[in-house]
Amino acid sequence: MSIANNLQRILNSIPKNVTLVAVSKKKPVTAILEAYNAGQRVFGENKIQEMVEKHEQLPKDIEWHMIGHLQRNKVKYMAHFVHLIHGVDSLKTLKEINKQALKHQRKINCLLQVKIANEATKFGMSNAELMAILESEDLRKLKNIQIVGLMGMASFSDDTQLIQSEFKTLKQLFDAVQKYTTTNFTPSVLSMGMSGDYLIAIKEGSTMVRIGSAIFGKRNYN
Ligand SMILES: *Cc1c(COP(=O)(O)O)cnc(C)c1O
Repeated sequence: MSIANNLQRILNSIPKNVTLVAVSKKKPVTAILEAYNAGQRVFGENKIQEMVEKHEQLPKDIEWHMIGHLQRNKVKYMAHFVHLIHGVDSLKTLKEINKQALKHQRKINCLLQVKIANEATKFGMSNAELMAILESEDLRKLKNIQIVGLMGMASFSDDTQLIQSEFKTLKQLFDAVQKYTTTNFTPSVLSMGMSGDYLIAIKEGSTMVRIGSAIFGKRNYN
């Protein structure tokens, strides 16, 4: 199957209101161009340096999403072009993004990452940490960020009931935080679902899926 065929097959299986982020980490620019030429414009990367290099080489109408765990000291390298940062998990990181966005006279879109799986390897904050941010006075002062929703990753598991319940939990939280809506917290995006679980995620209310291997094939980690 070609990248274009994979894309088409996935787009046919998701509703029109769900955004497809094509996760191109570890894939060459030639693969990204193949998807681009098939019409895809939204791409996700998990390393800032890799995303910066690809941004420089590829057409400028690509919307770049940072989906990985953030290293605060590298935010500055992507602040001039990043479209959406999915993995924000602290006020400290929000402040750094705000500072770098201000330098470029931009407002950077962010998602707050919530930990929904019990696995030790999954990043994200607890419900309590999320609430603390939403209720903090400091948040109001960050005029160069726009928090547009939440992001989460389900357990890496074959247990579809477990995955479904984790997505359900995140959707409930997403509904619950609507009441905190303010100028820079306007939650409309729920980023959940990857190659192995995106259909479950969509059933549970996802509005944005991050799909890599089902489009580009397996990644080589050597
Ligand atoms: C790699 C990655 C994905 C895509 O994973 P696939 O299983 O290849 O679809 C999605 N989200 C995040 C945060 C990732 O790091």
